[in-house]
Amino acid sequence: MNEQLKLLIDLQEIDTAILSIAEEIETLPDKLGKAKAQLKEASASFERIKAEYEKMEKKKKQKDGELEETQEKINKLKAKSSEIKTNKEYEAHLKEVKTFEDKKYQIEEEILSIMEALDNLAKDMKKQEPKLKKAEEDFRQEEKALEAEKNRLHSEMEMYKIRRKDIVRKIDGEIYEQYMDLAKSAGGIAVVQTVNEVCLGCNTNIPPQLYNDIKDNKDIFTCCYCNRFLFYKEK
Ligand SMILES: [Zn+2]
Repeated sequence: MNEQLKLLIDLQEIDTAILSIAEEIETLPDKLGKAKAQLKEASASFERIKAEYEKMEKKKKQKDGELEETQEKINKLKAKSSEIKTNKEYEAHLKEVKTFEDKKYQIEEEILSIMEALDNLAKDMKKQEPKLKKAEEDFRQEEKALEAEKNRLHSEMEMYKIRRKDIVRKIDGEIYEQYMDLAKSAGGIAVVQTVNEVCLGCNTNIPPQLYNDIKDNKDIFTCCYCNRFLFYKEK
């Protein structure tokens, strides 16, 4: 095979590998973002329950205070009952006591339902806590794995770049320039195979005589349609 053609084929192989590594590196931040979003979701649902629990605790404290106040009011009213002189006064007094007793009962009911809600929220928190811990652990692991992947890809890329330099040194300057122009305009693919009289770069038929010449791989030929360098891979 023509030495320059062989170098072009190698160069294309390396550039394709470098391109694919670069693409892989570009997907890494997205992968980390996805892992972070999962952690954020787990953390948010735990915080939601915790906030609700704290809100309920505050409400309970408030209701406890109200209950105490109401009880004091009842005690004071009852203490004053000995001062009552008339039946009418007594009736009004009983009515007033009953109003506060009713209020007290209502507050006690509210406290009971708050305590029930607190109980359920505490259970939810306990259930959510290991999920959050797992999400945190998963994220840390994913972060570590992605960091290792990034390092691996970068050193692989460096290796290809060293090999590339070595090849470029051996390629004829004009041919290399032509290669680079093509690579830029043709999506990174400048050297392609021909199979059954077809250029695999643009999928166009090439003249039979040209195909026969290419089959020898003794010279450098380009596609008349897409200008890419052509070679024939022997079976
Ligand atoms: Zn072509």
